[in-house]
Amino acid sequence: MQTPYYLIDKKLIAANMAKMDQLRAASGAKCLLALKCFATWPVFDVMRDHMDGITSSSLFELRLGREKFGKEAHAYSVAWSDNEIDEAVGYADKIIFNSISQLVRFDDRSKGIKRGLRLNPGFSTSDFDLADPARKFSRLGEWDIDKLHGVADQISGVMIHYNCENEDFDQFSDQLGRIENDFGEFLAKLEWVSLGGGIHFTGANYPLDQLADRLKSFAKRFDVQVYLEPGEAAITGTASLEVTVLDLLENEKSLAIVDSSVEAHMLDLLVYRESGKMNTRGKHRYQICGKSCLAGDIFGEFSFPEPLKIGDRLSIEDAAGYTLVKKNWFNGVKMPSIVIREEDGALRLAREFGYDEFVSSHG
Ligand SMILES: *Cc1c(COP(=O)(O)O)cnc(C)c1O
Repeated sequence: MQTPYYLIDKKLIAANMAKMDQLRAASGAKCLLALKCFATWPVFDVMRDHMDGITSSSLFELRLGREKFGKEAHAYSVAWSDNEIDEAVGYADKIIFNSISQLVRFDDRSKGIKRGLRLNPGFSTSDFDLADPARKFSRLGEWDIDKLHGVADQISGVMIHYNCENEDFDQFSDQLGRIENDFGEFLAKLEWVSLGGGIHFTGANYPLDQLADRLKSFAKRFDVQVYLEPGEAAITGTASLEVTVLDLLENEKSLAIVDSSVEAHMLDLLVYRESGKMNTRGKHRYQICGKSCLAGDIFGEFSFPEPLKIGDRLSIEDAAGYTLVKKNWFNGVKMPSIVIREEDGALRLAREFGYDEFVSSHG
């Protein structure tokens, strides 16, 4: 296989799906894959039987979910446009409006399906202002309880997305308690409540049973169907970015340039100022750099058991969530192919991106 490529391992996805099944069975909650995190449909066949459907952030994600995943489709968008709404309603089982003004505006055109609103509880677990739905002046959802009561008969549920890679069950439970306290009377009028994504329940030491009990008691207390919208939790740890060393330089540090680019192929490392992850140790330390002309195009610093040589293969971990969905053509760097490791271990080339795709994305 020619690098660069994203390598997605179906067996590892299946292991996450086993936890998904455990949570669904023990809690009664339904789990919808958040396509904004991961939309690589050639592996949906190992996910479909273990999740209840998809949720989306746009018309295109919604359509992809409807056509490639099937099952239940939730349609959310920060703002629907006039020319999208009828098509969206045609694909969706439920449409979730971000604001009361959108609900009112599209009331007639969405009457045929269940409607919901995004509720912003006014707090979140995000450490990054950039990704904090409860940040000051947030546009993400309604929070005024009197206004919400005013439209309760037009909707059957709410979506509350306020967690971000939250590994702390006690914090989750405390914050759900705040929601019960602040919005309980309103929630009791509804049929369903989605608690969004961002709960890291497929992590190694996460207390799945406690989460299941907590969700079950929440559902019972308000007599609602609970939904979760896992993105990262569904596919965490299941893919890598496979690259090859193209050149070796010295500038106070040893530098290795690889046939990929952080900006183009692992953008979130730059956005959130994080280092990439590689499972390697040893005495020989290198800064692993991308091949774009951006000076800070750096995957991170890693140590290796032997000196690197041109042609060496490196594997950068954690390449599933928010990675393939953000790949782009910056610098015209060859876009990584998508390779799938099937459950029997065989590697299958699912997609290659060539010059034709590069040209067609520019005009
Ligand atoms: C981003 C997002 C998700 C998925 O979040 P993860 O952290 O990937 O689990 C789910 N629901 C909504 C509304 C989102 O914006």
